[in-house]
Amino acid sequence: MSIDPKAPLCPNDGAPLTARGTLWQCAECAGYFQLAGRCNVCGNDLERLTACGAVNWFCNHCKELKSKSVVQYHLVSATP
Ligand SMILES: [Zn+2]
Ligand SMILES: [Zn+2]
Repeated sequence: MSIDPKAPLCPNDGAPLTARGTLWQCAECAGYFQLAGRCNVCGNDLERLTACGAVNWFCNHCKELKSKSVVQYHLVSATP
């Protein structure tokens, strides 16, 4: 399942999530989630770099920035 990083859906119930700072909250189950990225080449979790309001993803294994179009997104539970 691919995730739209601008409008992710709750992994529990499929409801649209609302942005809460760097987290996302579900209106249905009230859960908080964080968007995480995985490298399309090596499968490692990517480091999220925020600069000037733009989000970049860096792979510590490949030692390179990943373009948003190749990042494989997933949601992880978060605590606000
Ligand atoms: Zn939910
Ligand atoms: Zn990588």
